[in-house]
Amino acid sequence: MGEVAMDDYEVVIIGAGICGLATAVALQKKEIKSVVMERSEALRNITGAAIGIRQNGWRALDQLGVADVLRRTGINIKRERIVGLDGGKQQEMPMNGETRCLRRKDLIDTLYAALPPTSVKFGCELESIKLDPNTTKPVLQFIDGSSITPKVVIGCEGGKSIVANFLNLKPTKMFPLCGVRGLSNYPNGHPFDQEFARFRKDNNLVGRIPMDNNLVYWFCAHPYFPKDDRIWEDPEAIRQSTLALLSDYPQEVKEMIEIADANSLSFTHLRYRAPWDLVRGTFCKGRVTVAGDAMHVMGPFLGQGGSAGLEDAVVLARNLAEKGLDNAEEAFNLYVKERRMRVVRLSLQTYFTGMLLGASSRLKQFMYVVLLSLIFRNSSGHVDYDCGGL
Ligand SMILES: Cc1cc2nc3c(=O)[nH]c(=O)nc-3n(C[C@H](O)[C@H](O)[C@H](O)COP(=O)(O)OP(=O)(O)OC[C@H]3O[C@@H](n4cnc5c(N)ncnc54)[C@H](O)[C@@H]3O)c2cc1C
Repeated sequence: MGEVAMDDYEVVIIGAGICGLATAVALQKKEIKSVVMERSEALRNITGAAIGIRQNGWRALDQLGVADVLRRTGINIKRERIVGLDGGKQQEMPMNGETRCLRRKDLIDTLYAALPPTSVKFGCELESIKLDPNTTKPVLQFIDGSSITPKVVIGCEGGKSIVANFLNLKPTKMFPLCGVRGLSNYPNGHPFDQEFARFRKDNNLVGRIPMDNNLVYWFCAHPYFPKDDRIWEDPEAIRQSTLALLSDYPQEVKEMIEIADANSLSFTHLRYRAPWDLVRGTFCKGRVTVAGDAMHVMGPFLGQGGSAGLEDAVVLARNLAEKGLDNAEEAFNLYVKERRMRVVRLSLQTYFTGMLLGASSRLKQFMYVVLLSLIFRNSSGHVDYDCGGL
């Protein structure tokens, strides 16, 4: 892990994904020094191609001081269009609030660049965490055999979080759905409007968002039935199996997948923390808490997981700065109180939307439509949320 002064380890963040880096940036803005421990040997900035950020996410990025740089990297999307390919009608509506799609690399690199160079330690994989019985300080054990005893620990290590296990959160679950993502470059310019288009047929959904005049981000969500194990590793297997599913989709959709950059293709079995587990889960114990996917991993059906992690970062840093490191326990309780119902609602809407997509019968579809319209009358109301100032 190299030579580091002990007080560098007062605040330790586990995981240098979107949420871990955003949390470090937010803390730095409040003059709280932190160190991020990342298991990879370098920034994980190439996986997942791109990410859609809605108005609520931009508000958080504004607070982190990185929004203006990032705005230059993705065009503002003006409209939503939903196309039902099995006889359903087409719906068009103006986009609610600022919406842009960013390369994940741009987002991760920009957050990283906002931090002092030594604040992320690579090659540090957390193995376990426990509380020292005498001091009640958290003791972090890493797989290289080293251990540290920071004042404060924030677990931002994603959906398979060790810190979440330490907090006794219930295990995450898998949707019966998976997601394929990719980027397609049109050297002579693409023909698409500044719109977020979604094409739905049976239990398959394809989304398409232009990022600039040439580059287009797309995703495909479909039932999970991996016939071909190569799909986890081999981009061509991802491409061919996706095309096979979408054989009766419009030519422009198939062509987009055919020309996608092989390096950008990824396949994910979608994981979530059940909304009802979020209602009662213990998200902090003493001076240990979780944020981002470690707290509330959710399906991508609303495109809100990453933005919810950015909101967490702002709220967490604000509370920690207000109460001070010596009262971190109180700060974490306030943070959890502020975040709980927000992430419960986001996760519930995401869950119903995913279950509607995967529903095997008309009756189930009807049930999820009714639940969504009863509980979430304004389907894009979640983007109006404001996480507040730092
Ligand atoms: C198909 C798909 C599409 C999506 N689309 C959108 C979208 O459009 N908009 C949106 O807002 N969200 C979207 N999301 C969700 C978004 O990608 C996640 O919510 C977000 O990336 C989570 O960030 P995170 O930092 O919490 O976790 P992660 O990105 O998982 O980062 C965790 C980090 O912790 C590290 N780590 C893990 N374990 C350890 C350990 N033991 N020790 C040290 N380090 C560790 C990992 O290497 C990683 O760097 C999508 C998700 C999927 C699957």
